Amino acid sequence: MPKLLPNITVPYVLVEGGGIFPVRRIYCVGRNYADHAREMGSDPDREPPFFFSKPNDAVIQGHHVPYPPMTSELHHEVELVLALASGGRDLTPEAADKTIFGYAVGVDLTRRDLQAVAKDKGRPWDLAKGFDHSAPIGRISPRETVNIGNETRIRLEVDGVEKQSGTLGQMSWAPAEIIAKLSAYVELKAGDLIFTGTPSGVGEINVDNHVVAEIEGLSRVMFTLE
Ligand code: MN
Repeated sequence: MPKLLPNITVPYVLVEGGGIFPVRRIYCVGRNYADHAREMGSDPDREPPFFFSKPNDAVIQGHHVPYPPMTSELHHEVELVLALASGGRDLTPEAADKTIFGYAVGVDLTRRDLQAVAKDKGRPWDLAKGFDHSAPIGRISPRETVNIGNETRIRLEVDGVEKQSGTLGQMSWAPAEIIAKLSAYVELKAGDLIFTGTPSGVGEINVDNHVVAEIEGLSRVMFTLE
């Protein structure tokens, strides 16, 4: 085995109850809640999900998240995150469901000003979505330890004020459907994380804001922007 030059480490996320989950890739779904699709000015009819990605080292755990450079409009998006223990290509929803190792709460941080320019000019979203520390995430709960369903509440507050609130049943595409659709485009593998979209109420956060993101039954995300 040749020596690694340079010697880099694989990003990981802590697992509730012990262990670490190495992150291979991060995929995200756009507009997966009808009310958020409406607030972003698009038709909420059940169009096929579309995907974008973040670099795997965008994950950040802990109570301090740096405010990114080159933006003056950073937005929060609370999301259910799927952590895959296996993968495959062209999965059926039934096979896709079996790839899920566990669930976490994530915040898809977005440079909304850069995204607006990208949309307007037909340019890529990469640097609006996939910047350093753009994926705050809580501990992953193994699926057998939690009960996630349509009635499960998802919410986010900023400085104690609720900004986003919904239920997982409001998702246009359910987790197994998302994995199945995504697996038609790319081969999925163990270590992949999938952010599944956000309910309405996205908005701006700034330095010194304290963010709490929660999904019932999962380890919450709490951080201050610095
Ligand atoms: Mn999102």
